[in-house]
Amino acid sequence: MKGLKSGAVWPARIPRCLHPLLKAWWPGTLWSTSSPNAVHLTFDDGPDPELTPWVLAQLQARDMTATFFVVGEQAQRHPHVLEQVREQGHALGGHTMRHEHGWRTGKQEYVTSALQSMAVAGELGVRQAGAGKTVAWFRPPYGKFTRAQATALAPHATSVMWDVLSGDYAAKGQAGAEAVLKRLKRHTRAGSIVVFHDSPKCAEVLHTVLPAYLEWLEAQGWASVALEGAPVRS
Ligand SMILES: [Zn+2]
Repeated sequence: MKGLKSGAVWPARIPRCLHPLLKAWWPGTLWSTSSPNAVHLTFDDGPDPELTPWVLAQLQARDMTATFFVVGEQAQRHPHVLEQVREQGHALGGHTMRHEHGWRTGKQEYVTSALQSMAVAGELGVRQAGAGKTVAWFRPPYGKFTRAQATALAPHATSVMWDVLSGDYAAKGQAGAEAVLKRLKRHTRAGSIVVFHDSPKCAEVLHTVLPAYLEWLEAQGWASVALEGAPVRS
């Protein structure tokens, strides 16, 4: 997911009171969890052969897990990175095959691409939760899909939205990185779903922000936990 335009990080936080309304409009979406002492870091647009292993090392050093929303064609190019993500106990989800924009893509084409990306991530139909329900994770690129697309995907996957945007994609240089870290500390709550990008464009910012943010989370008594281990509000 990325902002509308470079520089736009709005809204940085989506208040909890709005989540039921958002879920009612976009069926099958998840905006936060009820975890009392965990947050959920998510990384979009990978896997990247250099940045993703670095992110994995940061998480491993603090014994934390995250959820990676992979672009299908990117995942097909770097299967060994995908394997590493899986081996280290993180969750995987789809982010369409070619980072399609929901508002500019027909419903069937979009749903097919979304399902295919989850299949590439190796998650579709693999895990079972509760009464034989299949669980899979999807995140719409740019955070944008239509109500019809969300409805069509709902029986197949939980569409993971967010309540905290790091804005890593819009930050430049040291000052930008500091602004990202400040924004994260201000808006993160227990149960927050936080958006980052393991894309080379965000490498410079992540190198500064991620270790400091993980250290701060630990100081708050919070850990990042992959979504499949998180309690989800119905
Ligand atoms: Zn994206």
